[in-house]
Amino acid sequence: MSRTFDLVVIGAGSGGVRAARMAASYGAKTVIIEEYRVGGTCVIRGCVPKKLFVYASRFSDLFDVAQSFGWQVDARFDWPTLVANKDKEIARLEAAYTAGLEKPGVEIIHDRAVVTGPNSVRIVGTGEVLEAKHILIATGGHPKIPNIPGAELGISSNEAFDLKTLPHSILIEGGGYIAVEFATIFAGLGVHTTIIYRGDCLLRGFDEDMRHGLEAGLQTRGIKLIYQTTIASLKQQGADISVTFSDGVVAPFGAVMFATGRAPNVRGLGLETAGVELTHAGAIKVDKYSQTTTPSIYAVGDVTGRAALTPVAIREGWYFAETVFNNNPLAVDHSLIPTAVFAEPEIGVVGLTEIEAATHGNIDVYVARFRPMINTLSTKSDRMILKLITEADEGKVLGCHILGPGAAEMIQLVALPMAMNATKKDFDRTIALHPSAAEELVTFKAPTYRYRNGVKV
Ligand code: FAD
Repeated sequence: MSRTFDLVVIGAGSGGVRAARMAASYGAKTVIIEEYRVGGTCVIRGCVPKKLFVYASRFSDLFDVAQSFGWQVDARFDWPTLVANKDKEIARLEAAYTAGLEKPGVEIIHDRAVVTGPNSVRIVGTGEVLEAKHILIATGGHPKIPNIPGAELGISSNEAFDLKTLPHSILIEGGGYIAVEFATIFAGLGVHTTIIYRGDCLLRGFDEDMRHGLEAGLQTRGIKLIYQTTIASLKQQGADISVTFSDGVVAPFGAVMFATGRAPNVRGLGLETAGVELTHAGAIKVDKYSQTTTPSIYAVGDVTGRAALTPVAIREGWYFAETVFNNNPLAVDHSLIPTAVFAEPEIGVVGLTEIEAATHGNIDVYVARFRPMINTLSTKSDRMILKLITEADEGKVLGCHILGPGAAEMIQLVALPMAMNATKKDFDRTIALHPSAAEELVTFKAPTYRYRNGVKV
């Protein structure tokens, strides 16, 4: 006889784990099925190991600056030590996530699952079929690899975390945050790094000052940028990979990484058998309560293609559990999501870009550019940029964009007053903290420039 659950969750990543824990804490008989490792992309091969690698890579910049403060530095870097210590921390987190599920009574099955109907799920390895009052699909996404000759010689972010040795050089294809973060990681660790991108500037969709500031920062760190070009093919050449570009140029690299986007994990999940529809982009179609076109099946996180970020997946998982198991319907507000690019220089953004805001009405733009204080004793030329965008009339803060040290930490705190509809006057009333970079945000006097009827004046 098959077992029956109130909730069967497929995927123990950010969204699935939160939903399962919350549902079980409301008394739902819950099982979660994971085919790889508990914790999902963020913990195992995303945010967490990436941030650890970012910390590792930033020491080289710090060593440069340290000398201007009188330190003599003779440092060597050991890649296997970093990978081993990262693995230890990931294993600790995986155990903590597992314990967090077990405590409220969630059963964990380590296997692959497929949906076999609106209320049933099959465990692939054992063939067991579970009956479910509700199914939650939280299967995340995977890296897209271009369909080109020799693509199997390249790596994605998945493999980048566990390379046996550091390559002498790397070519990274892509222009999004994963491409630039890994470029600064590898460059910071001493790898000759090149980014190749089909567009003409990195980080499409970000504020133009952030994009150009980042571009300058990457180049200062020796990262080579090749625009309006793609990788046409790869071929093994001794220990190196010979890369042919779309313009016919051929060059060898120690490694090639594809950071050319991610796609939702929907293939082979059996969604069609249950009537779950997809969007044009191939993600699971959901309403504001994360309910799919099949009423008993919900979906959260990257597989829904809304905003592919851990805190968003967590919030969607939590609100799903509130809605379905606590009789408290809650819809996630996706309109104000702070986000960071942990490159060097770092970027933190929340709200509208200047161009977006200007299409909504008259705006004032406040911009500060300066050398971060930590660099002032050295010859480092990096500039920090802080930008605040406000409505012209009411002064409501519409966007904030920061490039430079500490940008991510700052933007999380700016997101709070913005979520409370803060105005420029609220920022003005706030006393500055000196000396800090963030004090610029509360000491802006006149706008640096304005937009009136969509035109910059
Ligand atoms: P996931 O965390 O991907 O979990 C899905 C799980 O489902 C996986 O464990 C998978 O093995 C499992 N699964 C899939 N199919 C099946 C099946 N059929 N049966 C059983 N199990 C299955 N976000 C941030 O907010 N900040 C960052 O700094 C950040 N950095 C990132 C860096 C990288 C390199 C990457 C790749 C992502 C990063 N992200 C970051 C994004 C973040 O990791 C995701 O948004 C988040 O993990 C999505 O959570 P999820 O629950 O939707 O899916």
